[in-house]
Amino acid sequence: MGENIKTPYFDNALICKNGHIINTTANLHPEKNEQFCSVCGEKVINECDECGTKIKGSYVNEEGKFFPRKYFRPNCCHNCGKAHPWVMSNISAILELLKINGGFSDAQLENIELNLLEMVKETPKMHLISIKLTKNFSNLDINIKQKVKKIINEIFSEKVLENFRF
Ligand SMILES: [Zn+2]
Ligand SMILES: [Zn+2]
Repeated sequence: MGENIKTPYFDNALICKNGHIINTTANLHPEKNEQFCSVCGEKVINECDECGTKIKGSYVNEEGKFFPRKYFRPNCCHNCGKAHPWVMSNISAILELLKINGGFSDAQLENIELNLLEMVKETPKMHLISIKLTKNFSNLDINIKQKVKKIINEIFSEKVLENFRF
């Protein structure tokens, strides 16, 4: 019986560039691996495109069990800190919505992009930035606003969302 006890570890995750989670246990269950996302067709990655560090997957305990529902898709690489592609694609989706809404200069849009990235990274500046972004987003057309909110719920953690109401 004792030989079944193994050292717990984090498996490797496979996530498509748009953020669909393909497999959180790429080593334990390689049969679920995909080269391209079966939802959106984007390329699937298993490592940071900046430094090559494997993306953390599910925690596999000493009995070889894992809990995929407890998996949180990371926003940034835990080794080099670079934001993963799904963060960037969600942020550009927000910027596209703002362009459709109109009323933002290129400089403003650039600034909003940087601020959204700071929010994702949960830097100490996020409290100040949340006030600025709230101002930016408060006058959006209601349909656009709802869509922006949806995307923001996708990429921001609970902690950030608590500080960010618009
Ligand atoms: Zn996808
Ligand atoms: Zn990295």
